[in-house]
Amino acid sequence: MNILLLGSGGREDALAWRLRQSPSCDALVAAPGNPGIARWADCVAIDPCDPEAVLALAAERAIDLIVVGPEAPLVAGVADVARQAGIATFGPSAAAAQLEGSKGFTKDLCARAGIPTAAYVRVDKEVEAKAALDRFSIPVVIKADGLAAGKGVTVAMTRGEAEDAIRAAGDGPMVIEEYLEGEEASLFALVDGRRAISLASAQDHKRVGEGDTGPNTGGMGAYSPAQVLSADLEARAMREIVEPTARAMAEAGSPFRGVLFAGLMLTDEGPKLIEYNVRFGDPECEAIMPRIEGDFAALLYSVATGAEFEAPRLSNETTMTVIVAAKGYPGTLAKGGVIRGLDAAESISGVTVFQAGTAKMDGELVANGGRVLAVTARGSSLGEARERAYEGVDAIDFADGFHRRDIGWRELERAS
Ligand code: ATP
Repeated sequence: MNILLLGSGGREDALAWRLRQSPSCDALVAAPGNPGIARWADCVAIDPCDPEAVLALAAERAIDLIVVGPEAPLVAGVADVARQAGIATFGPSAAAAQLEGSKGFTKDLCARAGIPTAAYVRVDKEVEAKAALDRFSIPVVIKADGLAAGKGVTVAMTRGEAEDAIRAAGDGPMVIEEYLEGEEASLFALVDGRRAISLASAQDHKRVGEGDTGPNTGGMGAYSPAQVLSADLEARAMREIVEPTARAMAEAGSPFRGVLFAGLMLTDEGPKLIEYNVRFGDPECEAIMPRIEGDFAALLYSVATGAEFEAPRLSNETTMTVIVAAKGYPGTLAKGGVIRGLDAAESISGVTVFQAGTAKMDGELVANGGRVLAVTARGSSLGEARERAYEGVDAIDFADGFHRRDIGWRELERAS
């Protein structure tokens, strides 16, 4: 089959790499792609959020399956338009993408379906928010809903901090919720509109600095599986959280098709939902792809079309991804730094270097974004994956880059 992959990050490089190895993949086109993705796919420079441009490209290349990497094309309704045109599409409709786009929508769905999550109230005005604070103990979490996504969450450790966050958010939709204590883990499930099957777990590292300090980023590294999410806890999260969500979405007339990424808090009372994302995480995807065995393209096609599919086979290996970012990230970036040594890194057993923010300039590979490389390694243990991943990072010559040296620290500490 002919596949069109939308996106241009490290996540899409990992998806392209895995799709290209699938026996049922005859041709792979990426839009717009990047120099890393160009190793596996034919890259075409169109806007992946423009439904007309995507449809025209799909027609020209006789595409059988569209795989949507990032959230933006989903919110723009690209999956809706593609499915209406009769093209199998792995990625939810704009209506189902609200699971990520609107925290209020997701919290209400959890309440209706009895899904374990933090107790909450939705408010629209600053004065209501202040009044609602009295119903929660401290710490408390303040989340601006909608457009502020990603930047609008404050975990307030004092009443004063909570009031400041409410004042800063001003009038507008807001969710105030109970603070959950525990360790976080990510669970990725494939949902075909009705059924949900667990794909893999991972744990990421959001803060820019070692020891989980400094500002939040898109993610500085990840490993898979997240051992802290035991098989029992994973089964429980599927049964109590993901499966009822898939059912509720289907019953509401917005069936979810694609990968549902559940951000979980593992509390003393069991797993609770913090948030959903409606696509693969980045860098979790880079860590998960090397673990998937079998015909991944055929699996995504079955999920997209609702055909029978079996749970994917996963290797027993552990993987680790270390992000190499441009100096200054997540603030003002050093751009254009030359990157060399990727071949040396990839000559290390089990190491693959996925590319995120890179570009080709005068025959050299240069940095062209915040997160630049996703150095990924497989190992028989997390310790071995870690050793190989950092050996890979150290083989790369990128003076304008930096990385965290402590990816996986929680798990490695537990293991020792
Ligand atoms: P992102 O998509 O970048 O993870 P977001 O803006 O969608 O962020 P959330 O995932 O809801 O926001 O929250 C961001 C982080 O805040 C979580 O990863 C978690 O660490 C913390 N957090 C959110 N809700 C709670 C809660 N109820 N209790 C404790 N911590 C929380």
